[in-house]
Amino acid sequence: MRCILCEKLSFKGVCKSCLTKLLMQNRRTRVLDSGLKVYSFFSYDSIALILHVKHRFWGHRILKQIAKETFGKFAKEFEFSSPIYAIGIDDRVDDNYSHTAILVNAIKSKNIKPLYKVLRAKNSVKYSGKSYEYRRKNPRKFQLNKKCKSSVILIDDIITSGQTLDEAFQILKKESIDVLFALTLADAKN
Ligand SMILES: [Zn+2]
Repeated sequence: MRCILCEKLSFKGVCKSCLTKLLMQNRRTRVLDSGLKVYSFFSYDSIALILHVKHRFWGHRILKQIAKETFGKFAKEFEFSSPIYAIGIDDRVDDNYSHTAILVNAIKSKNIKPLYKVLRAKNSVKYSGKSYEYRRKNPRKFQLNKKCKSSVILIDDIITSGQTLDEAFQILKKESIDVLFALTLADAKN
């Protein structure tokens, strides 16, 4: 196949030189109103093409490759002295395809334990292209399906307004769960 970015022949969806270039771009950090710190590996613009690969099979493979190079490496670089949980935001499986579940899976390590289907939105509203006002009036209404005794890292594919992560953070805080920070693949804020 060809690299989806530079179109050179490549065994993987994104060739090594394109991936290296992508990874050298500045990581983003944001602190949300709630105080939650959010780290992102890319700006949204830089990987929009990857997230919108039309063919689902290839899209899935490419996301897995990127997840391994970002979330996977993160798990190796950061050692936690005691086990912590990684929780994906609303890792709903649509057609066996969930961005968030792939990312959560990639961060699995000795001391980072992925938890699936723990945080589910009761409101399946789509925020894409909607105004801040609309998002504020239509919260996702997350439901927590498990008691977590260890600290937690929240994981999502894209952060835009940050409202979804803020909402998830508040729910966990209410349950007295220690949330360390959030990790997202891409930050859509310019
Ligand atoms: Zn390339």
